[in-house]
Amino acid sequence: MDYYKNIISFIEKHEGEKYRAENVNLKKQGQEAYCNAKRLGKAVENRLNGFKFLGSSKWQNSGNIGKYFWLQFKREQYINKPFSISITALKKNGKCVFQVYLEVSYKDSKIFDQVNRSDLSNFNQSIKKLKLPPKDFYFQGMTNDKLYIDIENNIDSINKAIASSSYVKISTMTDVYVNEFDNDTTILEKLYIAANTLIPYYDAIFSNEEHIPQEEIEIISKMDEREIESLLNMEDEFSSYIYKEKLVKTRKINKKIVDILKEQYKGKCQLCGATIGKDFDVEIIEAHHIEYFAKTQNNDSSNIIILCPNCHTLIHKCDPIYDNKNYSFVFPNGKEIKINNPGHLER
Ligand SMILES: [Zn+2]
Ligand SMILES: [Zn+2]
Repeated sequence: MDYYKNIISFIEKHEGEKYRAENVNLKKQGQEAYCNAKRLGKAVENRLNGFKFLGSSKWQNSGNIGKYFWLQFKREQYINKPFSISITALKKNGKCVFQVYLEVSYKDSKIFDQVNRSDLSNFNQSIKKLKLPPKDFYFQGMTNDKLYIDIENNIDSINKAIASSSYVKISTMTDVYVNEFDNDTTILEKLYIAANTLIPYYDAIFSNEEHIPQEEIEIISKMDEREIESLLNMEDEFSSYIYKEKLVKTRKINKKIVDILKEQYKGKCQLCGATIGKDFDVEIIEAHHIEYFAKTQNNDSSNIIILCPNCHTLIHKCDPIYDNKNYSFVFPNGKEIKINNPGHLER
């Protein structure tokens, strides 16, 4: 049985239809699709480590068949915050599609009072820190009268939308289509991959509140800066786990922020502008903590600069002072190098 395909085919066939008293069968089908949506929510929850499935829309008992199924996920510690990763199954241009999105809701009935300016500016910061959304994602806002409007994909438009009172929700989303060859396993995989892409964005909203356990600080304090950075610069995805001191596992150092920044600069050193390896179709760049992570535990993107290996070595050798007003490094001998492309460091 393709449980998840059933959600799609139900919406495709019956979206907007009226439930009539005599049409018990249709109501049954609706309830079955609802159960399948919940089943899908649980399956996604199992794969999205640390996220809780908060339920699905309950429109099946009303007079009309709703326009969508909605599945919402939040990290448990941020359950009262107006941010979520969600999946909706709805009809778009005649075909049912799953939309996967990170959302800020200004009008979440239960928590509306708690949505305040600092939450919104955190959302804004998260987008700004990680720059524009991942490949294949776009921005959308929902207005007071439930109109969905695409928001242009640049920081200015997004900032304006976030500050504007004409939206009740703002999301960055992607459309996941299901084809005839898909089964429940492949559908779940597609949805998981899309949702997983949004996790660093979700987490960046709260990164200012990040708390590093004492035990991890102790392990990190015994590593030197180059060791820490070499973990960040490693090319396999498991390096966000530091295995040190007989495989003591520490969860620290979110490598995803580094990966996103590296992608942004496309192999170009932010300091000198060199693109080493370009002629050979490879990117040779490294992430460097401006304030040494070993001292500050600050892995925020505002503390990371993307450098070529030469500039990186020079910086570690001389330990210059970073001047964040002029975007420059001031060396002990008095020389100053201006950063060629401040990019995400710009305030
Ligand atoms: Zn350089
Ligand atoms: Zn460094």
